[in-house]
Amino acid sequence: MGEILSYNCRCGYKKTLNAGKGMRSFSSTNHACLCAFCRELITVEIDDNTPKDKALCPRCGRRVMFFNPQGGIPCPKCGLKNDLLTAGRWD
Ligand SMILES: [Zn+2]
Ligand SMILES: [Zn+2]
Repeated sequence: MGEILSYNCRCGYKKTLNAGKGMRSFSSTNHACLCAFCRELITVEIDDNTPKDKALCPRCGRRVMFFNPQGGIPCPKCGLKNDLLTAGRWD
């Protein structure tokens, strides 16, 4: 079970993310994060026994950035801070 998160920026950047427990495995969690290199908000599925700072972008293989969803997330395209909104749930 997890959350559907939606991110909308004034510049036109839009992203929907599925966060929470993994779809493939119950021992992993999808974390919303930002890849500064791809300039994309993404989710990475991390095994619950693996430290989050070991997470790599599945696209470019670089270290991803995590953020506190309460503090506003900088848009990867223009840098403006927007909130990640909960759009629903999935199981
Ligand atoms: Zn990347
Ligand atoms: Zn933007």
